Amino acid sequence: MPAIAIHGGCGVMAKLGLSEDEWRAAREDLARALRAGWARLQAGGSAVDAVEAAVTTMEDSPHFNAGHGAAFNAAGENELDAAIMDGATLGAGAVCAARRIRNPVRAARALMEGGETVMLTGDAADRFAAAAGLAVEDPAYFGTPRRRDALASMQARLRAGTAAEASEAEKHGTVGAVALDAKGHLAAATSTGGFTNKPVGRVGDSPVIGAGTYARDGVCAVSGTGKGEYFIRHVVGHEIASRMAYLGEDVETAARHVVMEDLAPHRIGAGLVAIDAQGRIAAPYNTDGMFRGWIGADGRLSVATHDEVFALGPAG
Ligand code: ASP
Repeated sequence: MPAIAIHGGCGVMAKLGLSEDEWRAAREDLARALRAGWARLQAGGSAVDAVEAAVTTMEDSPHFNAGHGAAFNAAGENELDAAIMDGATLGAGAVCAARRIRNPVRAARALMEGGETVMLTGDAADRFAAAAGLAVEDPAYFGTPRRRDALASMQARLRAGTAAEASEAEKHGTVGAVALDAKGHLAAATSTGGFTNKPVGRVGDSPVIGAGTYARDGVCAVSGTGKGEYFIRHVVGHEIASRMAYLGEDVETAARHVVMEDLAPHRIGAGLVAIDAQGRIAAPYNTDGMFRGWIGADGRLSVATHDEVFALGPAG
């Protein structure tokens, strides 16, 4: 019965300027992230172990806006947000505006396991991670030439008054995972650099429990990607769980409603992955594409960037 789904951000489109090789490499990294999570589930690990493993893999990949490859803020710095939630206990941990933590999702988990504080910001988050024995990096580790170009182009657009024409892909991204384990427990994790040219100190929805990240056993686990301010206002993760719990909607209906009816009218890019207590997966998005993939309860692995889904067979 275990199952896992991931996303690597919505808004993928040709304008991202990826070559065919880079698209393939991004799909391979999605498959690697899924297999990392799946291996935990197959070894009897928890849903929390699985989402942490999958998100860590994507944080380490330069193809996604989280960890190495994170978007730059307006000052040309990386400030990282991440959260994790255990649906079994409603335990949660989050770090925001961190600048040195190699894998922010691991710091979020360490915080969750502390059992007290849910969210730490900035320097305090960096110091907490170091004290917990997690890898910390020089801030230069997180930047890549592609993200540096994206910042330069966004700032040029602002000067030229054409920022509204920037593609969703130029603006943002995020990575996330949701999983159901063999014991029936759910978990969610999300990690992001936010969006290109975001204000210094701005915190998005990813580390806000109930907005970009949410898990509750018996109902669903959700990880979102898109303009975080709207995910916070609509409390997206909790809203999907509420629709399921109170209206009796299935995960697909509830997730689609929130993305297509609640968020789309704001004319922002939005997408998410969600999983229910039976391992059914929903991955709606209102952009041209969303990096995503899943290993369903049937054990088969699929990845996709746009409409076409690549079925890669048994996860192994
Ligand atoms: N949700 C992220 C944020 O607002 C960005 C994204 O997913 O594109 O920080």
